[in-house]
Amino acid sequence: MTEALDERTRQRLGGGPSVVSGRITAALIALVVVGGDLPRTMTPDDVRDLVEAMTTAGAAMPWQALVVPTLRIVTTGPARSWGHVDEETRQAAREGYGRLLAKRVRAQRLAEAGPVALTPPERPRAVSGLVEAIDGGCGMCGVASVSWSAAEVEAAGGERSARMSAWELRTVEGSSIGRRWPKLLSIWLCSACADATGWTGSLGPSAVERAWSKATGEEVTLETPTPTTWAALVLRARRAEREEPEPNAASWQHYTRPEPVVEVGTGPVEAR
Ligand SMILES: [Zn+2]
Repeated sequence: MTEALDERTRQRLGGGPSVVSGRITAALIALVVVGGDLPRTMTPDDVRDLVEAMTTAGAAMPWQALVVPTLRIVTTGPARSWGHVDEETRQAAREGYGRLLAKRVRAQRLAEAGPVALTPPERPRAVSGLVEAIDGGCGMCGVASVSWSAAEVEAAGGERSARMSAWELRTVEGSSIGRRWPKLLSIWLCSACADATGWTGSLGPSAVERAWSKATGEEVTLETPTPTTWAALVLRARRAEREEPEPNAASWQHYTRPEPVVEVGTGPVEAR
């Protein structure tokens, strides 16, 4: 085992060291009886899975478990190791081991699966006439999808709920995304841009600058113009009745910071 069992895992395994140790021992006994094996390295989660799958059956297996409760006088032991374990207990251990293997296979499959591209979810309801919807990508950075690992998607309860967690729906004024617009806007924000709006959740030039700076690693200075949001480009296209821009494959792909204006020197010309 490569990692020490942390406090949380020990609590989940039943608390004190002797209880945890007893449960792990019982699980290992069940593993021996069904001829199972352990992975070469085990995380605390693997230990917990092993205990959950095998301990109940394993606790009933030691020979003393037959003797102690009834205090029967047993004169001879079984002819071979673990020969006294009845079929019902063995079957319970085999079923536990089957669950354990299935879990390992699933974990392996998830580890090998590529990342999942999560696009914004379907709108929970249609917007009212006072609000205009912008769909397809993040209203700020314009990214079309957010990448999660397959394991994260499964932990979130599947792709549908992962998409709900990865995206936030916000209703904002047009001016907050850099465009004067008579209606309120309903836009999606990717998790990175939603984080950049800070604890107030307000969207405005400083949130846009924070999101851009975090995504590109470029610093915001006094001379840095506020980046153009993707939603502003969409609105510009709508106003001009042009085709709307596609969302981006990567965040802020639609925006390049303009080169700073270099002032031409007006100092004295060097005399020859
Ligand atoms: Zn974004």
